[in-house]
Amino acid sequence: MQEAQFCTKALEHPIFKTISEVSNNLGMDSYVIGGYVRDHLLNRGESKDIDIVTVGSGIQLAKEVANRLPGQPKVSIFKNYGTAMISTDSIELEFVGARKESYRMESRNPAVENGTLEDDQNRRDFTINALALSLQKESYGALLDPFKGLDDLKNKIIRTPMEPDLTYSDDPLRMLRAIRFSTQLNFKIESDSLDAITRNADRIKIISKERISDELHKILAANKPSSGLTLLEKTNLLEIILPELTSLKGVEDIEGQRHKDNFWHTLEVVDNISKTTDDLWLRWAALLHDIGKAPTKKFDTNQGWTFHGHEFLGSKMVYRLFKRLKLPLNDRMKFVQKMVLLSSRPIVIATEVTDSAVRRLIFDAGDHIDELMTLCEADITTKNPNKQKKYLENFKIVREKIIEVEERDHIRNFQPPVTGEMIMETFGLKPSREIGVIKDAIKEAILEGTIKNDFKEAYQFMLQQGEQLGLKKK
Ligand code: ATP
Ligand code: MG
Repeated sequence: MQEAQFCTKALEHPIFKTISEVSNNLGMDSYVIGGYVRDHLLNRGESKDIDIVTVGSGIQLAKEVANRLPGQPKVSIFKNYGTAMISTDSIELEFVGARKESYRMESRNPAVENGTLEDDQNRRDFTINALALSLQKESYGALLDPFKGLDDLKNKIIRTPMEPDLTYSDDPLRMLRAIRFSTQLNFKIESDSLDAITRNADRIKIISKERISDELHKILAANKPSSGLTLLEKTNLLEIILPELTSLKGVEDIEGQRHKDNFWHTLEVVDNISKTTDDLWLRWAALLHDIGKAPTKKFDTNQGWTFHGHEFLGSKMVYRLFKRLKLPLNDRMKFVQKMVLLSSRPIVIATEVTDSAVRRLIFDAGDHIDELMTLCEADITTKNPNKQKKYLENFKIVREKIIEVEERDHIRNFQPPVTGEMIMETFGLKPSREIGVIKDAIKEAILEGTIKNDFKEAYQFMLQQGEQLGLKKK
């Protein structure tokens, strides 16, 4: 028998002593289990989320623990799951009674009965998530590791405690969790597991879109999201979850003209941008910036491969994709759409940076001009160092020009210096088409640089425009 290992350092927070004492009084054995133990052993910093499993009622334990805590925090009870939560400023505790689970084919919600700690560890998804620390007085801090999870932590391996096919088929969300943990922790998924995921990929269809999106967010938030995206592709999960991306795979060759593989290019762009920003939605934008390329791809004997209008179509596809995955259909989606729509604009103007092109870019990108530039810089994936240097320098010039033009012309969050009301007032108009025509003409003139972005010039210009339309000043 292996000598017991102790890990009392993980239990320094006074809450653990309290739980230990309360459990002892109730005559119930309790353990810290799962992510908290794993992250402590990995030195990932103290996690806020603590999962407690008890051989008995988790709800009863939670109530008694809350009574002993300063201010007696509220206990949230989820009767259906037999779990209870206590939130304080510094931690979130989740209590659950140890249980045994059995699954049915059509659902990831198991039939549940009370069980021992071992039963509970058996139902855990990965060996590294089944590690438990004893809170019993006589064995306080002892590590209970029935599946050699500690070895897997050391060797950086994701492995299931039970037979992988059964584990993934029972709860297909675990396939995404495996890939997510592998990406977050930089662990390798053990090969039997990876094969089982590939065999069971189709079962991901029974998982709710919200759960899937949560895991995608976590993969995208990792340091190197391409590791996870590559695994999703390899296991055929990506084809089911994000077919817009797998459609970008492949290179075609006609008359010796090839285009790049836009799928692998996209993965590089996502990794690039992840080095410079933690903004999840900007990372989403990087992931989706080329999705319009599959449906717009054409070969033209004169121009070679073209993807005309892919940015516009791509931004429309973002809406459908967000809707399907139950991602938020709010300003965040609009931001992603905007990034996709404008993703080629800085590239187009980089070769000849005119003031008016920069003004238009600032006008269209508004507050998100910096993010757009970050996306475009990440979009450079050429392997030719000279080209890479040149492209980056061009964008540097665009960035400088943006600052210069913005300081002078104040186009960001552009408010027309002459309002619709003023136009109506000046010409004695009721709401009508002419007002829009004049407003647009003023905006165009400012962006083109024909007039300055100030009241005096815009007012004069309005009078001229009105005259051309046959309007008379009141
Ligand atoms: P993180 O909080 O970083 O996502 P975690 O491991 O704490 O990681 P949770 O979702 O908080 O993950 O779950 C807590 C624990 O519950 C896990 O460590 C694991 O033991 C168990 N668990 C969670 N989801 C599943 C699942 N789908 N199948 C089996 N066990 C699971
Ligand atoms: Mg957790």
